[in-house]
Amino acid sequence: MKGLMMHFPLTVPSILEYGNRVFPSKQVVTLLPNGSLHRYAFADLYRRSRRLSEVLRLRWNIAPGDRIATFAWNQYQHLELYYAIPGAGAVCHPLNIRLSVSQIAWIINDAQDKVIFIDASLVPVFEKVIPMLDHVPDFVIINADKDFKAGFRFMHYEDLELDTPATQDWVAADEDDACGMCYTTGTTGEPKGVLYSHRSTYLHAMSIMSPNAFNISMHDTALLIVPQFHVMAWGFPYVCILAGANMIMPSSHLQSQAIVQLIQQEKVTIANGVPAIWLQVLDYLKKNPPAEKLTLREFFVGGSAVPESLLQGFDELFGIRGVHAWGMTETSPLGTISRLQPHHERLSPDAQRKIRSKQGIEMPAVELRLIKEDGTIAARDGETTGEFEIRGAWVAGRYYNSEAHSDQAFVDGWFKTGDVGTIDPDGYMLITDRKKDLIKSGGEWISSIALETALVAHPSIKEACVIAVPDAKWAERPLACIVIEDGTTVSPDDLKTFLKGSFASFQVPDQYVVMQEIPKTSVGKLNKKALRKLYQEGELKPVK
Ligand code: ADP
Repeated sequence: MKGLMMHFPLTVPSILEYGNRVFPSKQVVTLLPNGSLHRYAFADLYRRSRRLSEVLRLRWNIAPGDRIATFAWNQYQHLELYYAIPGAGAVCHPLNIRLSVSQIAWIINDAQDKVIFIDASLVPVFEKVIPMLDHVPDFVIINADKDFKAGFRFMHYEDLELDTPATQDWVAADEDDACGMCYTTGTTGEPKGVLYSHRSTYLHAMSIMSPNAFNISMHDTALLIVPQFHVMAWGFPYVCILAGANMIMPSSHLQSQAIVQLIQQEKVTIANGVPAIWLQVLDYLKKNPPAEKLTLREFFVGGSAVPESLLQGFDELFGIRGVHAWGMTETSPLGTISRLQPHHERLSPDAQRKIRSKQGIEMPAVELRLIKEDGTIAARDGETTGEFEIRGAWVAGRYYNSEAHSDQAFVDGWFKTGDVGTIDPDGYMLITDRKKDLIKSGGEWISSIALETALVAHPSIKEACVIAVPDAKWAERPLACIVIEDGTTVSPDDLKTFLKGSFASFQVPDQYVVMQEIPKTSVGKLNKKALRKLYQEGELKPVK
């Protein structure tokens, strides 16, 4: 027998409808790239987004399913696009501004974005992308002065007349329609598109709001440090509207001093960010202790493993709790979160931090399992290691436009994460290794395979193997181990210059080791485990 309940579609515009009905005067504050502060209320965000959604349809003839990209910081106009695009039935596609020019172009060509909204401060990067595009999108520039010049034709965002009242309603979407898309990068050059649905976005937002997760309410003011182009800012643009939490948008001001100032000035209570950001903020606070206790109650940290020392520093020096979470672009992103359970509270602070620095327990509507090398399911005993597989209400089921990658990653209704570790009897995930050959530096991916391929193209290099080495600031950095042709020499500077053309600057290794030979496995593959061990034992002496 079917239930007899109403069918209420869980759509992105209905999130903003709710925010406008219930929390119209809650605030969105943006520190714009030019340093000026912009403030308005949820009611303004609603009004302008609805109008923008109409403008998209009237001006560009946007049809359901069309992709519209953004190339922007965390700023109020970007929030307007987050709602207006799905509200026009289209797919909001934030582009990662930190990727290399060729990766960005590849992604735009794959997504076939019809219109691209670019912040004026990012136009110099974007100009290099344009010659590589295989189609001609329309461009709109945000925050451009009247006499702003770019090397391509564009419209001013401010000329879209968003303060004119909208006459049309949102496009009525099916809750399973696509509303947003992010590409995961870092593998062998081919990023993979993840297409979120209205329903998955709504359910993820509701779930991360709950007390066992981010515990966000109308009493909060949230600082959105995670970029809107990183898995939709971890769902914050949606959850803050549902929770009635004020939103503070730092745009390009991501230096510790600016972050701390925003926390103080806007009385921020929660914030999100990768460990590299929080390590820098901790360091800044140690050097510049605030006169008054910060209003920041908790910060959410993930994207890379969180060092216990980071949690300890904030706990002991500033009474601020770091809450560790794990997820992926494919998981919207929140898969697990590491809050303590009541029976942990009798443990010592150090023992508690051991648990808090694990990746945590599954969110409701998400299931994890561990698969051993022999293909069987590992026990949740905290000892048996395996690869994590995940399924759930906001986990991708396929990649966009990529059958081969999809067939590899999604098997029997589960997604293979490529992360390796254990689950303890209390259900806490601990990541100990990564199957995918990637390095994560400051929250951004670096493909070791892509670097190795590029390095061996250098005339003096016979063999190259790139491994991740721990880094206090960036979590991980690439170390390039190379074997050079007899009678040749090569300097780190030569190699950096050589790689700069094909990689974003943060992806270029700053450390190199010249070796007689690179250790190999029994089947002749580069033995990265052995190299990592040599590095840990101090046997490799990198030069910069
Ligand atoms: P994001 O943009 O959130 O970093 P990605 O899809 O780019 O998402 O990266 C996901 C991967 O990042 C995971 O598979 C894992 O390897 C790593 N990761 C994410 N969060 C954590 C964490 N808390 N601890 C360790 N690794 C993490």
